[in-house]
Amino acid sequence: MKFADLHLHTQFSDGTFTPQELVLYAQKGGLSCIALTDHDTVEGCAPTAVACAAVRMEFIPGAELTAEHADTEVHVLGYFLDTANEMLLARIAQFQSVRQNRIHEMVAALNKHGVPLKVEAVFALANCKSPGRPHVARALVKEKLIGSLDEAFERFLKKGRPAWVPKTKMSALESMELIHQAGGLAVMAHPGLNRTDEIIPDLVAAGMDGIECFHTKHSTVMSERYLEIAEEYGLLVTGGSDCHGFSKNKPLIGTVRLPYEHVEKLHAARKKLQTTNARK
Ligand code: AMP
Ligand code: ZN
Ligand code: FE
Ligand code: FE
Repeated sequence: MKFADLHLHTQFSDGTFTPQELVLYAQKGGLSCIALTDHDTVEGCAPTAVACAAVRMEFIPGAELTAEHADTEVHVLGYFLDTANEMLLARIAQFQSVRQNRIHEMVAALNKHGVPLKVEAVFALANCKSPGRPHVARALVKEKLIGSLDEAFERFLKKGRPAWVPKTKMSALESMELIHQAGGLAVMAHPGLNRTDEIIPDLVAAGMDGIECFHTKHSTVMSERYLEIAEEYGLLVTGGSDCHGFSKNKPLIGTVRLPYEHVEKLHAARKKLQTTNARK
């Protein structure tokens, strides 16, 4: 049996692994195929493709776009993206700049609350175009301003806490269009984590291709329910660990293993999309 992990992060967003480390751990986890889905960036795809090719592992270039629909935050995974697509790159660059500004706002809020974190400390640690809250949390721990990552989120960074800054998000419909015009398939990430069940019908009507049924934060019961939903709407099935490297615990990669038959269905759907895009 072959297995895949289609939800992974590297240092190009808020993961701790380099592409090379990610591929090493993917091999250890017995995977034949991985997809890189960093937040709002495709920068890590080229180096990860090189690292995969060196060990003959299949690689799917992707991204996890932060989006919203009907006041609900939804993460939209794109698979088989053309990482040189100009419209995609231009649009995600805007969201990267929003993320960078947000770091300044979060640090200013922390300072206001008596936490003397310097913005340079966060950027030195993040060193990527798509920084996020985990980088602020790690910088707080590194500078010994707080005891743990959990404490950083609980006290300051989670929704409603003093240094929480909302993110400007793309509409989910736009994110799917952006993915499609870049040759990719659009998949709803971890519906059980973001509680996005209610918006599934709308997104399906707008052309969503698949749903992430298997995820670290999905119970067996949840995964079974999403498999039924996938069947009901004729959606592709994906899954992944959402590994962020060495974050709170040991790396999650290898703990969620998607049977390869689902990747074969993704390939078939991609071919169909290519034919449709060519007719446009
Ligand atoms: P952002 O995209 O900047 O809002 O950050 C979201 C990321 O923060 C998620 O992808 C998780 O990796 C991480 N995260 C969210 N909540 C927590 C938490 N309570 N503890 C640790 N990490 C978290
Ligand atoms: Zn993340
Ligand atoms: Fe996510
Ligand atoms: Fe993720």
